[in-house]
Amino acid sequence: MVRRRQIYEGKAKILYEGPEPGTIIQYFKDDATAFNAQKKGTINGKGVLNNRISEHVFTMLGNIGVPTHFIRRLNMREQLVRQVEIVPIEVVIRNVAAGSLSTRLGIEEGTPLPRTLIEYYYKDDALGDPMITEEHIACFGWASQEEMHDIADMAIRVNDFMSGLFAGIGIRLVDFKLEFGRLWENDFSRIILADEISPDGCRLWDAVTGEKLDKDRFRRDLGGEVEAYQEVARRLGLLQDEGGEPTVLDLDSARKKRDGEKA
Ligand code: UDP
Repeated sequence: MVRRRQIYEGKAKILYEGPEPGTIIQYFKDDATAFNAQKKGTINGKGVLNNRISEHVFTMLGNIGVPTHFIRRLNMREQLVRQVEIVPIEVVIRNVAAGSLSTRLGIEEGTPLPRTLIEYYYKDDALGDPMITEEHIACFGWASQEEMHDIADMAIRVNDFMSGLFAGIGIRLVDFKLEFGRLWENDFSRIILADEISPDGCRLWDAVTGEKLDKDRFRRDLGGEVEAYQEVARRLGLLQDEGGEPTVLDLDSARKKRDGEKA
């Protein structure tokens, strides 16, 4: 058995060297942190669910032409991705006021925003990921103007797609965080979507009840974290119902059944 080289261990994932040059294995842990890692815990089974949910969302984004680092899922907790140079910026996209936006500006949680808001945070745990503007990004050279243009463009596209995807399964996409990376090809690089998209980095509210189906359950001690993540996976059609029936709407069988019943 070959011992894999660990490249990096983050709060929710471990990165290992991939089988071919330019590839990386993302291992999804059950560890959960909040408030800049001041609160720590474990959500049993979270890693498995996030690996699957992120695979699904990245695959769908790839299908509509958004370039991503995702190559394929390897097993329950691991996926193979392209190695990129991570842009040190967390991109937060907001459709509805919540979390730090509500706290900072005194806007009641749940207030729909008149337009989609994009915010940038400097990725630095020691500094607690401070909020920054495009001026800081340009001033310190964290990304070029052209890269920022691509990032904002992709963020809006991802938001439009994901808002629809979740609306279709009765979930309101309140806000979420994206990370981007530079994919180097010889002396040129292009920006692609990296990291993960899962309930760890999104606010997902049930469209009818407003129930939180994301990491706020952990942050705010609401309980039922795994159940919430499972519910998201189930509605996305990624889990089997208890009876073993797939939850995805199978129009073909439905049509056949209807036609059979009519005959
Ligand atoms: N977020 C994240 N990682 C971070 C900070 C925020 O994934 O380090 C996500 C978070 O899950 C939410 C969105 O970005 O969906 C906006 O978070 P906010 O700024 O409101 O911060 P929070 O209230 O989570 O501290």
